[in-house]
Amino acid sequence: MTMGKPGYIPVSSPALIGREKEYVLDCMESSWISSTGKYIGQFEKAFAQYLGAGHAIAVSNGTVALHLALLALGIGPGDEVIVPTLTYVATANAVKYTGAVPVLAESEPGTGNIGASGLEKLITSKTKAIIPVPLYGHPCDMASIMAVAKKHGLKVIEDAAEALGAKYNGKLCGGIADISTFSFYGNKTITTGEGGMVVTNDGALAEKVRLFKGQGMDPLRRYWFPVVGYNYRMTNVQAAIGLAQIERIGEHVGRRKEIALWYAKALSGIEGITLPVVKSYAEHSYWMYTVLVDKEYGMTRDELMARLAANGVETRPAFFPMHVMPVYCEDGSRFKVAEDFAARGMNLPTFYSLPQSDVERIAGLIREGGR
Ligand SMILES: *Cc1c(COP(=O)(O)O)cnc(C)c1O
Repeated sequence: MTMGKPGYIPVSSPALIGREKEYVLDCMESSWISSTGKYIGQFEKAFAQYLGAGHAIAVSNGTVALHLALLALGIGPGDEVIVPTLTYVATANAVKYTGAVPVLAESEPGTGNIGASGLEKLITSKTKAIIPVPLYGHPCDMASIMAVAKKHGLKVIEDAAEALGAKYNGKLCGGIADISTFSFYGNKTITTGEGGMVVTNDGALAEKVRLFKGQGMDPLRRYWFPVVGYNYRMTNVQAAIGLAQIERIGEHVGRRKEIALWYAKALSGIEGITLPVVKSYAEHSYWMYTVLVDKEYGMTRDELMARLAANGVETRPAFFPMHVMPVYCEDGSRFKVAEDFAARGMNLPTFYSLPQSDVERIAGLIREGGR
């Protein structure tokens, strides 16, 4: 998201292409700048409509969206929740906030996502939920994961922070699990600066999310707090930006798919560069265009990243898996597939205003860097 000198290509940049300024000015002029105001309801309604979901609850960021989803499901101390080892740290952290234990799951080759096949051996009498994460915009195999969950009486929370606009068998990510969460951080597919959303079709869960989000105040009795809640509210100003963003969702998602086609064409046939896998059930939303740098390529992933940086191109390494982090490596488990993906994965610039000529320049640098 770095703003750059000319010629510099950041890895990500927000696209304020709609009525953002008009709506934010309206907040300023009407003085509705805090966490009540018309844009919050309008953003929630538009977001729920887009996903075809019953309820969408706007919150301050994607991390607290996960915390609220877990709280609404009643997850707490003594419980276990299965999370991918290969994810952004917020997925595991949110489980820790509740006092439950995150149990790490191995990735599948190709997508880096968790699959259903390895899940059953992780399930114990303490397991309460599974949090699939559609990594970089590639959906997880939701039907298989939901089937395992159903068989064992578990809930599924989809951490769809990176998958707005992605589809699993024709159905939008975030509209499939018992409860799903999104992030609107500045580098995500749509942004509110900082922000998040909890989505569910279950009215009782939605009510609990609203209760915990607003300090736990009884909706029918002011200053009466039946539970210990949190202040996880979104402001009207953030929601104003979010409404303008969701109004143009087709363009935000569509452009990323177009960029992916440009990359696929420009990068084709380079030895040692593996392009993103797309499973038959998946419509990838390409939050990030992720390639794997293999041994056959002329330099290591980190050397290639340095070469690109020296030429004004920002990239990002894939996430470190959670099991190598000091705070999450308690039992010393190793997950070879996740480690391999993490070591070789590299995210290329992927954002709305990235021109095809820049994609071609980046691909040219990668092509020249090989053997
Ligand atoms: C971005 C992200 C989050 C957290 O979102 P914030 O809004 O930054 O708190 C959670 N999970 C995943 C997978 C993410 O990519």
